[in-house]
Amino acid sequence: MDKNPLLTRTAELAAEYLARLPEQPVAQATDFADLVARLGGALADEGEDALAVIETFAKTAAPGLVATPGPRYFGFVVGGAVPASLAADWLTSTWDQNAGAYVLSPAAAAVEEVIRGWLLDLFGLAPEMSLGLVTGGTMANFTGLASARHALLKSVGWDVETQGLFDAPPITVVTSDESHVTIFASLQMLGLGRERVVRVATDAQGRMRPDALKAALANIHTPVLVCAQAGNVNTGAFDPLTEIVPLVRAGDGQARRWLHVDGAFGGWIAGVPNYRHLIAGVEEADSFSVDCHKWLNVPYDSGLVFVRDRAAHYAAMTLSAAYYVAGGADVRENHNWVPEASRRARGFAIYAALRSLGRNGVVEVVERCCRLARRLAAKLAQDPQVTILNDVVINQVLVRFTPRDGSDADAFTAAVMRRIQEEGTCWAGGTTWQGQHLMRCSVSNWSTTETDIDRSAAAMLACLHELNGETA
Ligand SMILES: *Cc1c(COP(=O)(O)O)cnc(C)c1O
Repeated sequence: MDKNPLLTRTAELAAEYLARLPEQPVAQATDFADLVARLGGALADEGEDALAVIETFAKTAAPGLVATPGPRYFGFVVGGAVPASLAADWLTSTWDQNAGAYVLSPAAAAVEEVIRGWLLDLFGLAPEMSLGLVTGGTMANFTGLASARHALLKSVGWDVETQGLFDAPPITVVTSDESHVTIFASLQMLGLGRERVVRVATDAQGRMRPDALKAALANIHTPVLVCAQAGNVNTGAFDPLTEIVPLVRAGDGQARRWLHVDGAFGGWIAGVPNYRHLIAGVEEADSFSVDCHKWLNVPYDSGLVFVRDRAAHYAAMTLSAAYYVAGGADVRENHNWVPEASRRARGFAIYAALRSLGRNGVVEVVERCCRLARRLAAKLAQDPQVTILNDVVINQVLVRFTPRDGSDADAFTAAVMRRIQEEGTCWAGGTTWQGQHLMRCSVSNWSTTETDIDRSAAAMLACLHELNGETA
């Protein structure tokens, strides 16, 4: 007998979705108002049968679902979900654990401690670094920068958590011209000001220039927070940490300095021997953020932050309400390392992903994506009307299309990209890079194959030729 027809049917719907995923059009034409109308209407007085709700919901939501977890979605930087992590995510909702406190879920606390050990080892980071599990790169950056704010102000005798920022001694934030928008969003939330920063110039690939950083630091006499990046969201390039670290450390002793590294997707390279040289020096960072919902391919939402100064991390995040009874000094209290109190046990999906992949599996997914990105770039570059704008160092490819009639290449690139999106074989988005409008492809999905890349490149070139008035 079926113990739970609702969940059995839901599992069937999920399996049908996953079976369709590789072949359904990646994006579909949708109309927002129409979706709202179909899903909405007045909230009924009487409830509906749960199974009927799910059946109807699966059908009405379908036109508004984008195949981002599928093998030919190259937009933004997203990943899919490796099977074990998806299954663990189902259990996470079923178990419905509150991961905030040890007494609410010893399993959630233990799993976060296990993940901390595994990843510090995989990434080659100091084993005593503290870890927070958050919703994504944005909150990981926020938490790392909050820890920095605590430590830097403490070094000049100011307790920012109790006193706030009014009348605090100044600290200086250094970013690059290419720091991710979420660094600035974090600064805006932390009261540090998204424009009250010193921006360091970058090179042609978007890497922070060490000479420019050196010159900037020479003029700063306050405690400094330097925000570096491992994996530029356009080019995939890495700030040269082996040169940046000694520049940051050179000033220690005068005023405290903190190096934060945003490795939302590029950070995974730290666990991949053939690529690790790109991120060498990260082991010297004071804080380091990485997304799991990108290259580890776990379901949304999932990000991590590691902090070297555990006391600063703790001071910036802990809750001090008397009713948050601690489980004891020898257990992990998850809420001490993140902004939230109650939250989902998102460690379970990370745990299952890491266990099912193993070290070699993580390496294999990252290396395969990089190899496929180079394959995509090479296929596209065979066409004289295509230019690849970046060095394809990891998984990012920047593409520009040239119109045959000599018209505006920005507008033409945007038009070809829209055509590719409508055509549905694959999906890539747009970006503006050093003044040019480009199509950006990110190969980040565990399930993408060579065939997917070849089909996608062919579809992209067919759209290009169609708009250039040639038949394929
Ligand atoms: C994606 C990304 C972020 C933001 O992460 P979210 O998970 O979207 O919050 C930050 N920095 C970089 C470099 C990224 O690629």
